[in-house]
Amino acid sequence: MFTGNDKFLAAELSEAIRFFERKNWTPATSTNYSTRSTEVAGHFLISRSGVDKSRFGTEDLILINEKGEIHPGFQRPGVKSSAETGIHTELYRKFPEINCVLHSHSVLSTTLSFTQAKNKQIVLEGLEVLKGLEGNDTHEIQELVPIVPNSQHIPDIMRDLEPYLKATKPIHGFLIAGHGLYAWGKDIQSAKRHIETFEFLFECYHTMRRQLWEC
Ligand SMILES: [Zn+2]
Repeated sequence: MFTGNDKFLAAELSEAIRFFERKNWTPATSTNYSTRSTEVAGHFLISRSGVDKSRFGTEDLILINEKGEIHPGFQRPGVKSSAETGIHTELYRKFPEINCVLHSHSVLSTTLSFTQAKNKQIVLEGLEVLKGLEGNDTHEIQELVPIVPNSQHIPDIMRDLEPYLKATKPIHGFLIAGHGLYAWGKDIQSAKRHIETFEFLFECYHTMRRQLWEC
């Protein structure tokens, strides 16, 4: 059981997950979500593996430490943390200011990341909704979204992402080729807004490319 403020974070995160499910961004029990615990130092609330996100509830969140180990109070037979837990813990380690990491498997984040993988990035520019990303106060910017190769070995993904994490202009998320989108934020609502912003902009990007092709 979560204690204190973590109970509210668990409810807020579960609500965001069900919202993603209604958007069709969480097929076949996939995707994973976490937020930093405010009650247990160095721990995170994270979605457990294999849950149908349309039925996701606070009981489907578990507490893990920085190594991805499940807190003794949450260990149950068959309960596992996501295979991608290492992406979450590594992002929290690198960015002390972020408190939430979210993931989506939309059709567009899966297919665009696959077809654009050879370019290693997508550059979004000129659209008003870019202001949905923290720190962007104009549409007149270029937002770089890295695309790293997919791997079942998480350290490979983080190694390929590393140069982008060190860049002067901070990124708000990244794509894994043929897989999906990760984004983060200072709290659950800002991370949720970042996923929504990217998913909307990917639709715009895809639609504009198609329209240009048809011209
Ligand atoms: Zn995934």
